[in-house]
This record gives sequence, C-alpha cells and structure tokens, in this order.
Amino acid sequence: FSELDQAMAYVNDDWSALRGLFGGKGANLADMHRIGVPVPPGFTVTTEACNAYLAGGGVFPDDMWDQELHALMAIEEMTGKTFGDGDNPLLVSCRSGAKFSMPGMMDTVLNIGLNDETAKGLIAHTQDPRFVYDAYRRLIQMFGAVVMGIPDEAFETAIEQAKRKAGVATDAELNAQDWEALTQQFKTIFRSRTQVDFPQDPVEQLKMATEAVFKSWNGKRAVDYRNAAGIAHDLGTAVNIVTMVFGNMGDDSATGVAMTRNGATGEPKIEGDYLINAQGEDVVAGIRMTKDIDALATDMPAAYQELQTIATKLEQHYRDMQDIEFTIEKGKLWMLQTRDGKRTAHAAVRIAVDMEEEGLITKAEAVARVAPDQIDFFLHHQFDTKAIAEAHNAGQLLARGLNVSPGAAFGVVAFDADLAESWAKEQGKPVIMVRPETKPDDVHGMLAAKGILTSRGGRTSHAALVARQFGKPAVVGVSALTIDLNKRRMSVGDRVVLEGDWLSLDGNTGEVFTGQLKTMVPDIRDPWLIKLLGWADEIRTLGVWANADYPADAQRAREYGAQGIGLCRSEHMFFESERLPFIQQMIMATLPIERREALKALLPFQREDFAGLFREMDGLPVIIRLIDPPLHEFLPDLVELINELADLKMRVQHAGNLAEVDHLLQQIRTKERIRAQAERLREQNPMLGLRGVRLGIQIPELTIMQVRAIFEAACEVTREEITVLPKVMIPLTSHANELKVQRAVLEAEAKKVMAEQGITIDYKFGTMIELPRAALTADRIAEYAQFFSFGTNDLTQTTFGISRDDAESGFLMGYINHDILPDNPFATLDRDGVGELMRIAVAKGRRTRADLECGICGEHGGDPASIALCHELGLDYVSCSPFRVPIARLAAAHAAL
Ligand code: ADP
Ligand code: MG
Ligand code: MG
Repeated sequence: FSELDQAMAYVNDDWSALRGLFGGKGANLADMHRIGVPVPPGFTVTTEACNAYLAGGGVFPDDMWDQELHALMAIEEMTGKTFGDGDNPLLVSCRSGAKFSMPGMMDTVLNIGLNDETAKGLIAHTQDPRFVYDAYRRLIQMFGAVVMGIPDEAFETAIEQAKRKAGVATDAELNAQDWEALTQQFKTIFRSRTQVDFPQDPVEQLKMATEAVFKSWNGKRAVDYRNAAGIAHDLGTAVNIVTMVFGNMGDDSATGVAMTRNGATGEPKIEGDYLINAQGEDVVAGIRMTKDIDALATDMPAAYQELQTIATKLEQHYRDMQDIEFTIEKGKLWMLQTRDGKRTAHAAVRIAVDMEEEGLITKAEAVARVAPDQIDFFLHHQFDTKAIAEAHNAGQLLARGLNVSPGAAFGVVAFDADLAESWAKEQGKPVIMVRPETKPDDVHGMLAAKGILTSRGGRTSHAALVARQFGKPAVVGVSALTIDLNKRRMSVGDRVVLEGDWLSLDGNTGEVFTGQLKTMVPDIRDPWLIKLLGWADEIRTLGVWANADYPADAQRAREYGAQGIGLCRSEHMFFESERLPFIQQMIMATLPIERREALKALLPFQREDFAGLFREMDGLPVIIRLIDPPLHEFLPDLVELINELADLKMRVQHAGNLAEVDHLLQQIRTKERIRAQAERLREQNPMLGLRGVRLGIQIPELTIMQVRAIFEAACEVTREEITVLPKVMIPLTSHANELKVQRAVLEAEAKKVMAEQGITIDYKFGTMIELPRAALTADRIAEYAQFFSFGTNDLTQTTFGISRDDAESGFLMGYINHDILPDNPFATLDRDGVGELMRIAVAKGRRTRADLECGICGEHGGDPASIALCHELGLDYVSCSPFRVPIARLAAAHAAL
C-alpha cells in the first residue's frame, strides 16, 4: 500500500483508472495509508491479473505469483513476522474488491497462514489458545466455503452441537478446548467433503484463496448483481492481501462498521455498530447482539476519539460521507475499508447541503450530488421499510406491476369510480380504486381514492398519467390480476380480494400487498431540501412550469416553485357531473339555437374555472389549451348505450300501465338520439380524427365560448388588481392555414370581450407543436403563433406512428427488452427522431419570430433525461405535473452544470 505514487504514475494520475486497476477497496486502502490513516500492511493484486487469469482459462499470468510472493516478503519485513513461521507467524486476509462496490457478492478469506504448527507458535506468542483456535476454525470454515464450495451449514451444525454439549447459548461462551475440538472436527468435515486434507502449507493456502477470489468474479451471485446494478462484466476483481489484525484478542479488542454520518437522516454524527472481542464478519452476520457505536466512547475512549478524528479526516479527504470498517487490536485502532456511504434521499439532501456549509463542497457539487428522482421521496407518503419487510415475510405480497406513480397508499378496494367517491367522501374511508383500466369519466373516483391499481395499461396509460398528475400512488399493468367486476372481486391465482378488503400499494416499487401497511408522512418543507432547490434555481437557465387544470393544482404548483402554468386542459372541466349534460346537449344539437343555449350554460362554469387559476397564478403566465379530444369522448360508451336501450325496450313489453309506457318511450327516444349521434361521431382513428384545431374550425361556437370565458375571467380578475397573463393555445395544428383561420375568429372574440369590459389584457395566441408537419413547417406556423408548446405525447405517437395506449401494453415493452429501442419513447424523449423535429421547429420558428417562446408540456417535461434534452434544444421552459416541479428544478440545474 505504500507504493501508491508509482501506481498513480502508471495510470497517468487518473484516480478512476486506479480504482479500475486496484478495485475500490484496494485503491482506498493505499490512499488511506498515504494520508496517514492506520492501515495494516498489505498489497493489491490487480484486476488486470484477474482478467488475464480468467481469459487464460484459469492460469496465473506470467510472473504474477512471483510478484505476489515478493510483496508478501515486503510485508514480512514491515511487520517483523514471517508467513508460516512456527514462532511468530504472519497471518493475512485475502479479500476481493472490484471497481464498483458489490457488497457481499464476492469472497474473502481471513486468517490465512494458520496451520497446526503456526497455531502452536501463535499460542506461545499470545498466551491465548481460545483466540487462536477460534481463528483457525474460521480459516478452515471460510477456506472450505470460498475455495472448496463446502456449504456453511456443515460447519455451523457442528458449532450448534458443541454449544448444546457445553450447555451454552452463544459462541462467545465456548472455551479454548471447545474451539480446539471444533478445529479438529472442521478438518474432518473438510476432508470428508472434499476428499483432500485442509492444506497445511500457508503458501498453498494463499495461492488457492487468490484463485478463488479471481473466480468469484464469475460466481452466479456476482453476475446476477452486476446484471441488476448495470455493472460491466469485463472489469474483473482485484485481490487485496492484508495483514490480519485481531478484534478477538480479548476485552481491549473489538471490530465494527460505521457511517461517518447518519445514512437515514443525514445527521452529522457517526453511526455504527461494534462487537468487543470479535472478528470481521461477526458484526454483519448478526450472530451476536452488536453495541451502538456511542457506547465505544465509554468502552474504549482513546480508540473512540481516534475513530472520530479519522472519520473527519476521511470525509475531508473524500469530500463525502464514508462507510468504514475498523478493528481495534489490544487498544490499537486499524482501518480496514472506506468507501462512499449509501444513503436515503433525505440523507443525500441533508449531507450535500451540510457539506456545502462546512466548506467541503461547492453549491454546484451539492446540487449535482442529489439525483432528481430522489426528490420524489419528499413528496409522497412512503411505507415504513420495516413494514415492507414484515409484509414480505408474512406473505402479504399479492402481485407486482408497473410503478408508474410514486408513493405509498392503503385503503379499501372499490371497483368503480362512483363507489370510490362515495366511500371516500361520505364515509371518509381511504379507498384504493381498482379497475381493469381507467377512462376520463373515472377521474372523480381517482381523485377521491388514495391510490389506483389497474390490471392493464402501461406507463403512459390514462391511469398512469392522471395518477402522476395528481400525485396519487399508482400501480398499473398488473397482468397477474384478474378482476371480476360483476362478482365484485379480484384474484391472483387462488388468492381472492373482495370489494371492501384492505389493500396496500407501493408506487415506488410496483408492489401490491394485501392488508394495511404503515406509512410515513413526507415533508416538502424540509429545510435542507428548500436550500438545495434554491441553489438549483440559481444554476438553471430553463424555466419550470406546471400542468394544472384546477386552482388547487395551480396552488400546489406555485408552492413547489412553478413559474407558470404551461398547460391547462380546458376540457377536463367538462367531465364534472353538473357540466357533462350541457356538453352532451351541445354535441347533440341539431339547431343552432340549441347549441347556443348549451354553450351559454357552459360559459359561467368555464369562466369561474379560469378565474380561479388566474387568481392563484397572479403575475405568472397561464397557458390554456382549447378543447382537444374528439367529441365522442364526452358521450356514453356505445356498447353501454345499446345494452341500456335493450333493457328499456324489454321493460316497455312488461309495463303495467300506459303512463309507464309513455315514460319509457320518452327515455328510449332520448337514448336513441344519443346513440345515433355517437354512431355518427364514431371514427376509425379518433386520435387522428376530428379534434383539436379541426374541431374548433368545425364548431367555432365552442372555442369562441372558451375564449370568451378566458377573457371575461381575465377582466374580472384584473379588476381585483391581480396581474393576469393568459395565453390561448390551439392544439393539433398541422398547417399554418388552420391557425390563421382559427386565430382570426378567436382573437376577434377576445377583442370584443376586452372592448365590452373596457380592459386591456396582456395576452398571446400560440399553438401546440405535436404533429411532424407542424414541426417541419414551423416557420410558416410561427407567422400566426406567438408561442410554441411541444405536445410530445402526440408528437411521439405521430413520429413513430405508434399508438401509445395499445403499444405500451403490447409490443413496445418487447422492443425495449430486446434493445430494439433504448428506452420507452413515451417516458424519455427520443433524441434522434422526436428531438430532431423539435430542433427543427425551434430553429425555423425563431427564424420567423426571434422572440418565439418555446416550451414543452408533454409527459416528458417531468423526466430528467428529457429535461436535459430540452435544455440543449434551447427551450424556454418545461411544464410538468405539479408533483414533478421540484424534480424538474433540480434536473434543469443538472442540465446546466
Ligand atoms: P466485504 O467486501 O464482504 O466486506 P471484506 O474483504 O471487507 O469483505 O472482509 C470481510 C470482513 O473481514 C470485514 O469485516 C473486514 O473488516 C474483515 N477483515 C478483512 N481483512 C481483515 C484483516 N486483515 N484483519 C482483520 N479483519 C479483516
Ligand atoms: Mg468490507
Ligand atoms: Mg396532444
């Protein structure tokens, strides 16, 4: 470890390359030695040697073994002990250590160098036969397991029997004779399992252990771990040979692990566990009750003080929280490992902020250290980690699905929106709404529910979008789940859940549990988070706006730091029960007067909705998108209608009196009209049909009413001395002429309202860019649009020609699993295709109108990778669900770093 400088020269002073060569453990051991932290003498066999060994079919590369023996001699010199010496033997550990930490995935053998002869020497030297035989049996046990593949139970059973025979409960109570007997027994077990004797030659032990550690790189556990963690398979592991120090040499010896700060809360206080008179893995193995590190201050004050000093020194050196392993041998502290510590999202934020304030790192570094997605943990309820573990043990896991909207929720199962709403609102029950999939007219139930579960649908299914929009935990696409809406029950295999039963959803993992799991309440007002996001705001250049349809969403968006509303979907308000009849009447109208009446009834509702948004967003821009979906979405489902009609006709046959017949016939006539209209409106490809600007051109009265509502609301709120900045957005433009025609009509109405009210509003008219043709002809479109907003959901659908709703539960996932597509393009913007269209649109649009404001309001606006692309494309802002605003603020800062 003392030759780090030469090693650094070999890798041209590249620390990351050194970690690649020495592994993280080896590099840090040498590094600790360099800065004066006590590390037992040792050396590292490089990953290059490991890779050569594996590539050569299990032969050490030229010269490697000689070099290893040579290094061992250097250690003998430093320690004054000799490997295999009968008087004062050197013992070493042989430890794996790869570039990226793979905790517990590979192997380590302790106490190498012990045999019958050196054991006697060590006893003479230490006067402690109990310690020596405990160490010796551990060597046989670990060597047996790691090198020869003997299952650990074989040895553990023997220990259990010995304890029973001695009449004691713990390992610690076994005495020297017991361990000596066990050592003999272990040798017998070793022989009977492997047909060979435990090797007495220390050099042979070291050679075999080195080979075993090399091979452990390709062990199944390690391969699985790398697959899951996305670590390359060709890195190889280094092998660290480290002089043994002993935590099991009596009551002035100990071994432990610690974090230099609290890994759960980030509190700047060392936390950890230790054991007196124990060795290495006893602490993590959980065979003895460990002590809290605080107690070390009284048990061994000097060693504790030194540990504190070293912890601080390591943090100063690595500029991050460290996870350390240490051993105290007869009062002397030794460090055996250090690495950056794992931490929760809360701890990550607090540690980053604290370290900036301690002067250890810069603001930019603090911001860079927290992953945007970690912010999610501050926004949603989470299950207690203990509760999750217990639920797993209790067999409560019912199924797994897609984790589309984070957070945890529990409640009673309701199979339809109306029931979910009435249970929640009237009886105050927490409800989990369960459906095969959801539709726009389920929204009221979804809003009332605590969580949403569907058996079908993908990451951008209706259920997923709405859930994320409203911050509801949701799990969708649980294909193992069979829902029987008639019998009001669902099942997974032979396990049945009835309506009204308790269910818990984990939107972070996609797990669905039966019963009620304990949750923890998060808090966005965490002072460290507020500070960190403030620094992110100083760094980022991209604006962050929010998609919000209702005043309550707008309020939340603002509280979370949104700088505007990038999308208000005006038609969402039509789905509310008191409005739906009017919109249906408007659709059904055959005479102009009927249509006008229906629209007149809708106007005050819309005006109030918009006024509410404007009040919340005082001084900030609000983009309102005019009606977008095809009209049939507002009509009842055709199949349902036909069933209802059949039912009514049946009842006419059996009616008891003429009044009843009359009544039924009238109902039939109304329903027939609706059915005829629904059939007339039915389209083969509704998403490519009569919607967006096309609808506005076809039925101008509708969008004119919406514009009137916007401007009447704007005038009303302006009179309250609130600053209103409305922006009217026209969806689905494909040709500049569409915009030309529609804007002329709408702007005329806007001017008319302002004249009537005698108030001038600062407004803009713009369009969504969500069709490839619009992107390609953006220069023409910009003649009529004062702003662009990329509707990347539709733009992705139409660029790929893939129907999102169908594909996500179908072939698209196969494409991703087989690497035909790198990512789901509906979750992360497709840089080469959709991104290229956006690039063209921004460039062409700004050629016509230099100050053209460009933003994005699709789902991608809340996805960190997509936000980075938006930054690169020079957009002015991203707009996302209020719950993703804090995430987007941080992601935008990362993009600017
Ligand atoms: P892992 O990567 O699984 O933690 P390690 O190589 O770090 O494996 O070792 C396992 C255990 O043995 C740790 O508790 C470590 O501190 C301890 N250990 C390793 N080498 C020595 C040594 N030379 N002296 C004392 N304890 C050691
Ligand atoms: Mg370790
Ligand atoms: Mg769209």
